[in-house]
Amino acid sequence: MFRKVRLRLALGALVAALLVIGAYPVRTSEVSVISTDRFVLYIPRSVAVRPDVLDYMLSSMHKCLDFVEAFFAHSLRARICHLWEDALPALGDSPGSCICKPGSERHEVHETFRTLPTNPSDVDVRAFTWIHEYTHCVLYEVFGALPPLVDEGVACMIADDLFERNSYAQAAIMLTAGELPSLVALANWVNHAARAWRFDAWVNYSAAASLVSFIRDEYGRDAIIRMCERMPDCRVASWECILSMVMTALEETAGIKLDRLEAAWRQRIDSTEIDSQFRLGRVAAVRLLKHLHSSPDLDSLIFLSGRAGKSIGSFWNEFFGLQQMAAWFGTDRAGDMTEEELREQIDELHVKADKLRRALLYGNGE
Ligand SMILES: [Zn+2]
Repeated sequence: MFRKVRLRLALGALVAALLVIGAYPVRTSEVSVISTDRFVLYIPRSVAVRPDVLDYMLSSMHKCLDFVEAFFAHSLRARICHLWEDALPALGDSPGSCICKPGSERHEVHETFRTLPTNPSDVDVRAFTWIHEYTHCVLYEVFGALPPLVDEGVACMIADDLFERNSYAQAAIMLTAGELPSLVALANWVNHAARAWRFDAWVNYSAAASLVSFIRDEYGRDAIIRMCERMPDCRVASWECILSMVMTALEETAGIKLDRLEAAWRQRIDSTEIDSQFRLGRVAAVRLLKHLHSSPDLDSLIFLSGRAGKSIGSFWNEFFGLQQMAAWFGTDRAGDMTEEELREQIDELHVKADKLRRALLYGNGE
């Protein structure tokens, strides 16, 4: 779908590639900088990207940005800088993920521990993340720092729209698994930047996507704009007021009390049609992910490895490999491992996490 509708931009003319050594303070020592009128890409020099893939990547990025801008009728003022970093994530960053740092001068999209796309279908997969991050940039310019429920919910909905995905499907699985959060819990979703890779955040993303989509489907696109306008700007609002402000903004947008909004939202999710066999597999995926994230050592490892200045990339590779397998469980992308086998592998990883924590803390020779 995505490739068919790619923009026919004469990107070759737009792209000015220049080699910069250490010109940008990323932790990779040498980067190539590729800039267009809207994007700046910082690519480690050690990575070779095929020209046709690069061209396709840039056209996909432009297409994603155009889509978000059209929704909000806003042209982004600052450029988006993409940074691929193979260094240790700093304390609070989410390893292996894509992080958006919007700003007034420039917006940054950091891809830590991620390789660049090597072919067009890789690009299509990544574009789903890119449009999500670009939505954060547009939201920031138009509304300031929105609470995570709205910031993430809108970003997920826009990405689902472009890729024609059902924004209720994952929430429906969560509901079946008994993991769908309440509206108050969602409204109180704070401090997410350092937790974006955790199970509760994973649940919140799906729930927020379905809630924002529900508001759009029930009340129209303009309701999304009005909702964002009513939301507190988290840069200036005092944190103890944010929950109450979010709840009020939701009630004013829907024109009903929160309990009625919650009931209608859950009912909509519950009515989502999903094949029963597929639902069973996906509920198992939720169980597996919850189990994977249940180790209390994971947070400690991010902190301790940063403190000790030691890379534990191989541990995270293993972690993210298992996370991917768990997340794909029950889909046609899953391998042939059973739930029990995956659970055993997760148990083994938890034992490793415990040992690694001790080694980093007490330096016992590992
Ligand atoms: Zn996000």
